[in-house]
Amino acid sequence: MFVDVAKIKIKAGNGGNGCVSFRREKYVAAGGPDGGDGGRGGNIVFKVDDSLTTLADFRYKRKYTAPNGMNGQGGRKNGKSGEDLVILVPRGTIIREAESGAVMADMSSDEPFIAAKGGRGGWGNPHFATPTRQVPRFAKDGTPGEEWEVSLELKLLADVGLLGFPNVGKSTLISVVSQAKPIIANYHFTTITPVLGVISMGEGNSFVMADIPGLIEGAGDGVGLGHEFLRHVERCRLLVHILDAAGSEGRDPIEDFEIINAELAKFDPELAERPQIVVANKIDLASDEQLAKLRNHFESLGYEYYEMCAPISHGTQEIVNALWNKLATLPPIKHYDVEAIPLELYEKTDDKGFTIRVEDDVYFVEAPWLLKILQRCDLDDYESLQYFQRILNSSGIIDALKERGINEGDTVSIYDLEFDFVD
Ligand code: GDP
Ligand code: MG
Repeated sequence: MFVDVAKIKIKAGNGGNGCVSFRREKYVAAGGPDGGDGGRGGNIVFKVDDSLTTLADFRYKRKYTAPNGMNGQGGRKNGKSGEDLVILVPRGTIIREAESGAVMADMSSDEPFIAAKGGRGGWGNPHFATPTRQVPRFAKDGTPGEEWEVSLELKLLADVGLLGFPNVGKSTLISVVSQAKPIIANYHFTTITPVLGVISMGEGNSFVMADIPGLIEGAGDGVGLGHEFLRHVERCRLLVHILDAAGSEGRDPIEDFEIINAELAKFDPELAERPQIVVANKIDLASDEQLAKLRNHFESLGYEYYEMCAPISHGTQEIVNALWNKLATLPPIKHYDVEAIPLELYEKTDDKGFTIRVEDDVYFVEAPWLLKILQRCDLDDYESLQYFQRILNSSGIIDALKERGINEGDTVSIYDLEFDFVD
């Protein structure tokens, strides 16, 4: 089965905890602090792998967890960092935060994408030594790794998409003009997964053609093959509509053409407006009258119209040249812009609980829901900072700190964030 959507959970590794330790030497009563720092947690990283054309791998494995960083140890031994977990996806995969639908990444380039950042390792106790606090009996815990539920959606990256009823000769065309080797057979729906063919135009130029699984009537209503397949032509800059000129299966090619375009329009009106070139195939089986009728019909509608006999490459080079020339006049392949994940999403949680721990005038605040916000907030940005301060107030954290007796200038430590308290 062809899978092009998936929902998975990803969890980056937690940072290791910092260590509380003091040097022990012979004949020295109490050595200085020597606790090591915790290691960084592994990231969850997405990368494109061009040998993949479906998201089938995600059907059975739904949870991906990167390893945690190790805790620090005595003798200033820092914990080992967790390794990144790399998840391979087909080119053109759109990664979205599942709940809001916000686009996190469009995996079109070879650039890896860090979808969940590993937690930072906590500092060991030497970091907390000051002239007035020479024996720091505390260290910092590592921060948890980011955790998301993400949806993956494959929107193939191809310049040209082939349209047409099953058996009209789509797979045959791509097999004769590119290195792609799709299955060609005389029965319907032979193309189960999309096949991408690179068509070389010489001098390092090329374009990509996608043979997508055959459309059937009713696909636009979500019956049968449905939207999964239409989705793949969404990004194509140019569509090639292939017809069985001879109507060799007892269908009328003009009617086929109209049915498929109606399906496209139902799915996405914009898609129906995408430039189309019409190609009549199986001309070896068609009569002169049939061919003349098709040519008149499509040329009078203003379409570029070509004829071919795909299995023997008759007419195919002319079509390839026409596609190349047409592509030069069209805008580049659509890319999806990254969208901000609404922070409010994490305020919705029922559990707004937090804990405060006080050690040597440092107030440690812990609250998993707050961490989520913190991880996503750019506190160098004035608006985000204001937002964060509002949250501290509205959640009761500021009041609770006051109740615990915090004074101006005492340190507040919220995971990675540390600041001096000002009322
Ligand atoms: P697809 O379902 O659109 O991908 O169609 P295929 O490329 O798999 O072709 C379906 C059948 O039609 C195969 O048996 C092909 O050999 C045959 N076929 C394709 N093009 C031609 C053609 O130009 N003439 C003839 N006679 N048969 C063709
Ligand atoms: Mg096919």
